Amino acid sequence: MTHLLTVLALIAGYAVFVLIWPDMACGKCSGWGHKARRRRSKACGRCKGTGRQSRPGARVVHKGAAMAIRYIREKREGGR
Ligand SMILES: [Zn+2]
Repeated sequence: MTHLLTVLALIAGYAVFVLIWPDMACGKCSGWGHKARRRRSKACGRCKGTGRQSRPGARVVHKGAAMAIRYIREKREGGR
């Protein structure tokens, strides 16, 4: 039981972390936006030259947060 709680706590912690920092430096180009530090290097394919990459699960967490906010708002407005 304690193990399950630990896993749940980790997931909750990760969800909060992703909500605050949804993106990270691209793993392929390490945030440079292109493959090498040369002048004529191609833009990185994974981040399309932005150097940023969304974390795994960021879209799911943000969708869940938006749904939760909508639910709370609707409940608050519907209650009165
Ligand atoms: Zn990249």
